[in-house]
Amino acid sequence: MKLEYKARSFSCFAGIGTHKKGVNGMIDFRAVTKEYPGGTVALRDVTLHIAPREFVFVVGASGAGKSTFLKLLLHEELPTSGSIRVGRFELGSLTQRQIPYYRRQLGVVFQDFRLITTMDVYDNVAFAMQVVGAKDKRIQERVAYLLQLVGLAHKARSRPNELSGGEQQRVAIARALANNPDLVIADEPTGNIDPRMSQELLDLFMRLNESGTTVVMVTHAHDLVRHYNKRIVILQDGEVVADGGLKAQHAPAPPVPAAQGWRRPAGMTGAGSGWRR
Ligand code: ADP
Repeated sequence: MKLEYKARSFSCFAGIGTHKKGVNGMIDFRAVTKEYPGGTVALRDVTLHIAPREFVFVVGASGAGKSTFLKLLLHEELPTSGSIRVGRFELGSLTQRQIPYYRRQLGVVFQDFRLITTMDVYDNVAFAMQVVGAKDKRIQERVAYLLQLVGLAHKARSRPNELSGGEQQRVAIARALANNPDLVIADEPTGNIDPRMSQELLDLFMRLNESGTTVVMVTHAHDLVRHYNKRIVILQDGEVVADGGLKAQHAPAPPVPAAQGWRRPAGMTGAGSGWRR
């Protein structure tokens, strides 16, 4: 069964933000190294450019540095050396007051949904707009629109615990889009979702990207990644070991089973960390 939102277009996302943006979907990691206290080097000399409107999968075995990469992007951690720029924000020089402002301009989707369990679906999405001071009328219109878009208009008054994992993640996506971000960051968004629904969710992210939103997705879902001809950045022991695209339709399965982590699969195009689309 196709989900209701499949037929809908994302094109109307363009240009309807609730505030002026400093995040324009561009990400620049320049020689970024992150060493934790205790000496573990989680990322080593990572240089990575993600252009506005790109879709990038970031994959790698456990311990490869994926979470650290996301924490740096969200400004939850600072690099030991190197610099990170997201849109017009140089993250190393954000003031304490700018940090929440910066984060609110990102749409973030987590593996464990992180919905507010005491609020219904509608209020979970509306809340994201209330905290940035959006007007009530605007909130009503936008939340109704977003719930339609993710196929959950009929669940607006349900609580998260009354929804399936896939439905909860669609609420989380609607919430991430509430303030019309130029950049959406997804951390294992299909990690708690059954395979069929995972494909639907990935399709939703693809259409979001087609409408002009940059999407950076950390994932273990190797089978899903192979369906899409998108840029794949492979991290291994804190370093970018491959960066390019997979010729989805013709590519054989990556030669390495999931448990052993990612290496450069046959059919992957592009070169080292300097690769650009
Ligand atoms: P992944 O998300 O790919 O599993 P992480 O970024 O979580 O990788 O971890 C990369 C490395 O950094 C691992 O060796 C991990 O043990 C270490 N690490 C992660 N967070 C911390 C921390 N807060 N303190 C010390 N070491 C950490």
